[in-house]
Amino acid sequence: MAASAYPHLLEPLDLGFTKLRNRTLMGSMHTGLEDGKDLTKLAAYFGERARGGVGLIVTGGFAPNFQGWVKPFAGQMSSKAHAERHKVVTKAVHDEGGKIAMQILHAGRYAYHPFSVAPSRIKSPITPFTPWPLTTRGVESQIQDFVNSAVMAREAGYDGVEIMGSEGYFINEFLCAHTNKRTDKWGGSYENRMQFPVEIVRRTREAVGKDFILVYRISMLDLVPGGQSWEEVVQLAKALEKAGVTILNTGIGWHEARVPTIATSVPRAAFAWVTKKMKGEVSIPLVTTNRINRPEVAEELLAGGMADMVSMARPFLADPEFVKKAAEGRADEINHCIACNQACLDHAFQNKVASCLVNPRACHETELVYRPTLKRTKVAVVGAGAAGISASLVLAERGFDVHLFDAAEKVGGQLHMAATIPGKEEFHHMLAYFERQLALSSVKQHLGVRVDAERLTGEKFDHVLLATGVAPRNPRIPGQESPKVLSYVDVLRHKKPVGKRVAIIGAGGIGFDVAEYLAHEGPSPSMNLEAWLAEWGVVDPATAPGGLSKEPPKRHAPAREIALFQRKKGKLGAGLGKTTGWIHRASLQNFGVKMIGGVNYERIDERGLHVSFGEKRERPTLFEVDNVILCSGQEPLRELQAPLEAKGVKVTLIGGADEASELDAKRAIDQGARVAAAL
Ligand code: FAD
Ligand code: NAP
Ligand code: SF4
Repeated sequence: MAASAYPHLLEPLDLGFTKLRNRTLMGSMHTGLEDGKDLTKLAAYFGERARGGVGLIVTGGFAPNFQGWVKPFAGQMSSKAHAERHKVVTKAVHDEGGKIAMQILHAGRYAYHPFSVAPSRIKSPITPFTPWPLTTRGVESQIQDFVNSAVMAREAGYDGVEIMGSEGYFINEFLCAHTNKRTDKWGGSYENRMQFPVEIVRRTREAVGKDFILVYRISMLDLVPGGQSWEEVVQLAKALEKAGVTILNTGIGWHEARVPTIATSVPRAAFAWVTKKMKGEVSIPLVTTNRINRPEVAEELLAGGMADMVSMARPFLADPEFVKKAAEGRADEINHCIACNQACLDHAFQNKVASCLVNPRACHETELVYRPTLKRTKVAVVGAGAAGISASLVLAERGFDVHLFDAAEKVGGQLHMAATIPGKEEFHHMLAYFERQLALSSVKQHLGVRVDAERLTGEKFDHVLLATGVAPRNPRIPGQESPKVLSYVDVLRHKKPVGKRVAIIGAGGIGFDVAEYLAHEGPSPSMNLEAWLAEWGVVDPATAPGGLSKEPPKRHAPAREIALFQRKKGKLGAGLGKTTGWIHRASLQNFGVKMIGGVNYERIDERGLHVSFGEKRERPTLFEVDNVILCSGQEPLRELQAPLEAKGVKVTLIGGADEASELDAKRAIDQGARVAAAL
């Protein structure tokens, strides 16, 4: 057998009392399957990941008591009844030869309910509830609840627990002086403040015995003002090792930090250097994390001595077989996470069950099942954008005779435009994955072919899936026929030249992306770690506590003067993703892009864009610009539907052809897969 391309990643890790089969740790993620009594869906989800070869799975967080809930009635592990319910999860993983640790997460002041507790009565900037400050006895009782939770997890069959000590949650709040103003033995000096996690670990180890994995997620880089100094972080790590931790996992940034830590614009492995700083300070295995989504990236980190294990969370949503494919020399078949957050983290914030933009089966393993078809019918899929590709692959997997048509020479549709945006480079890899999957499948591709109803009826398809996408919406602004007016397609796909002063009409996802594209010149900071760290003011924590520079982030010289418009009043970009919208806004503000809402578009002429404000069309204003770019939404493209149906052909619309409003790749891929699964 050929030597593996990933010897370090696939090397087992001996923990003394037990062995992990490789160096991958599936990082904790809240999926929404944790909350509630029936954990069979959670079991199916983890079972698939264990079958796919993950070294150590860590569950989403379970609270040690009700005060620690992230939100009302969140998952909790504190009784024998809870432990009993979890046995289906641990069994599913063990049946596949995997190992699983349960994360104990106490939300502290980040809790979204009125019973939250914290070291001090200080409200967080991201939750509406002010926490109850704990008495000294109250602190003792919280420690006891952590210990009890770990004991119950062991009873449930878990191989270990991860104690969540980072991201600004409860434990982290004890560590930093700005959230811990206590005057008893749990406050004051760092020595005192760090006793809280150390005691939790010491007493947990005592209670669970020696042969139980204790992972501790340590906040190595707080990324908030008043964060821990590097010296303090090292002091804590050493004390935790002594207290009985088996593996030290890396935590980067509090949730309230104003530095992106996992978004797609964050360079791959952007924070591995922080874990590396800890090497040599402790002798237990260290796990590095954040924006590691490919086996070659993970391999390079391990081979370079940056860490002993690699944590990947979202990549295992995207592909449960990540490790298996890497081990079998099929890395080009890995469906990789593009770090968009659209179906995972954004869903968690909307109280929806998580999924994955590139893999709609994630967390829906029991309901989205691709069963073999009983009849090999002939299906045409018209349009090889996100929706058409997704449907074609599922249909082929089910055994249909699939013909995929696209007018373009390449599959991907609008995704090619998305991939040109600085910070969205991961979309290129998504396209490469789709191309590879189509090549491996039985789908017959007809590229460079704009089909019409005549051809489709002539070729006697049993069913036509129309995935023809969208056309840009016509905003009907007087003067828009001027040569200075371009559409986003002209700019992104046809690369038409754009002048130095630009007005963008429409501030949805595409308007923001076009602004980002036009503001940049030269390589994207997402491809250059040093430039990216400087842009967000991240520095070595040995030089500034929490790793935050004292200097304000450097403002970039934009390649153009840009103004972004919308008719609605209020914040621009309000409809962007919950977890990423603020990053897009901050980035454009950093470029000095003007954001102007509440306008009426009066006309466009040789001087530029004329607008007025409000219902009374007041304050007529001219924005002198070289180009006006239309990003005013999209309309469905489905002119083939009527003629096909008139000839008695069964037609189903998917993706933008079905509904253009609020269309994105998540919905297009999900709908394509679901329609194909049900055909
Ligand atoms: P399309 O991608 O439009 O595909 C339709 C295909 O049909 C095209 O390839 C076209 O050539 C073909 N076609 C049409 N008529 C015919 C015919 N008669 N014969 C043959 N072929 C035909 N979404 C996200 O989720 N996240 C993002 O971050 C994101 N960023 C974006 C950034 C930009 C700049 C743009 C433009 C879009 C972005 N999107 C994003 C949106 C996402 O790309 C689309 O919603 C999604 O790709 C739509 O897929 P679709 O299959 O419905 O249509
Ligand atoms: P969109 O988000 O619906 O935004 C359309 C914009 O055009 C709005 O700002 C709207 O604002 C304006 N508009 C609508 N009708 C108009 C009219 N008649 N005249 C002038 N302006 C008009 O759509 P999009 O930006 O085209 O994006 C398409 C889809 O791709 C979106 O659903 C989005 O989710 C997806 N996408 C996602 C991302 C991402 O990062 N997740 C990035 C890009 C695209 P007013 O009505 O207030 O003027
Ligand atoms: Fe990754 Fe996006 Fe899927 Fe989340 S939804 S796992 S970020 S690809």
